Amino acid sequence: MSTSLSERLNAELSSLRESGLLISPRVLDAANRARTRVDGREVVNLASNNYLGFADHPALKARAAEYLEKWGVGAGAVRTIAGTLRIHEELEEQIAAFKHTGSALVLHSGFTTNQGVLGALLREGDLVISDELNHASIIDGLRLTKATKKVYRHADAADLERLLQEHDTDGLKLVVTDGVFSMDGDLAPLDALVAVARKHGAVTYVDDAHGSGVMGESGRGTVHHFGFEYADDVIQVGTLSKAWGGVGGYAAGHANLRQLLINRARPYLFSTAQAPATVGALAAALEEVQRDPTLMERLWDNTRYFKAELARLGFDTMGSVTPITPVLFGEPAAAFEASRRLFEQGVFAVGLGFPTVPRGSARIRNIVTAEHTRDDLDHALQAYQTVGRSLGVTAA
Ligand code: PMP
Repeated sequence: MSTSLSERLNAELSSLRESGLLISPRVLDAANRARTRVDGREVVNLASNNYLGFADHPALKARAAEYLEKWGVGAGAVRTIAGTLRIHEELEEQIAAFKHTGSALVLHSGFTTNQGVLGALLREGDLVISDELNHASIIDGLRLTKATKKVYRHADAADLERLLQEHDTDGLKLVVTDGVFSMDGDLAPLDALVAVARKHGAVTYVDDAHGSGVMGESGRGTVHHFGFEYADDVIQVGTLSKAWGGVGGYAAGHANLRQLLINRARPYLFSTAQAPATVGALAAALEEVQRDPTLMERLWDNTRYFKAELARLGFDTMGSVTPITPVLFGEPAAAFEASRRLFEQGVFAVGLGFPTVPRGSARIRNIVTAEHTRDDLDHALQAYQTVGRSLGVTAA
């Protein structure tokens, strides 16, 4: 007899429950801000990707409302049929100018951007070499291609070079890396990676989901931080769903990249275009970050302060150098218990264990934003001190 849907659902859920991996997300009762209400409790929020405080920013909301009124609720079609509104093209021009690239295309999310771009670009006979800690959307995007896939050790340019020496091809060679790694908060060593890639005639593909709006002048990103923004052999992709406050993804680079993606990227071809209000908010976000330099200053001041204070309290922040600030606990039970105790003290910070992070390195991932005040951070640090001592993670 065939499996019923109930049997399948129950078996899958029980197995997740037994392995301690069943997720039931906490629910926000207010906008996603530095201080918000979660499951009925007032908290300092260290769990969001809202780096610049744009998720509930007045300038973005005003432009979203304006575009909603003028352009309607939905785009009405996929981009290639009748869904390309003037505002979509304007946003793309704005992104290309901001990133200093030859062209840019906007897609629905960072996730679908990796699916779309990797799927459109790579074919059988190509070689793609990917950092072992790259994001799930890159891994899934690569599964859609028939290119030969190899994985290099995390952030290790020498290992990348070894693989490029061992595997050659007449096809396209692509080196794929996150710009900022989402779980450790470290940077890809793009200076070394691009140099190795160039030596072997390979193109470098940087997913800057956590670097865009965070790294480089006015948040132009990790590629800008390393000075490669004008290069034709560097592709920048990323999300518009984190620092930029809305939802979406972009691909920017070579002058002909956009045209190819319009013709080949399957999410672009087969999924309805972004809603006007979202496009408006994103256009305003790009203007706002350049108009108000204090946003980036506050983000980085807060980042430096929070990391230094956590280290002073005796916590291991795993060498992170960006606003992503992990605190290492080792075993998942300890990280989850610490997260629960922090929440009781009004701090929302999420514990992460295997398979999201490697075994033995369960942690709480904190993300500092421009919107946090010193009071917010001091409140969180006080809670960390109490919880660290009560769990025996830091000295009493
Ligand atoms: N790439 C990376 C490196 C990410 O961290 C994320 C977000 N989790 C994504 C892509 C997906 O972006 P989005 O949420 O816009 O789909």
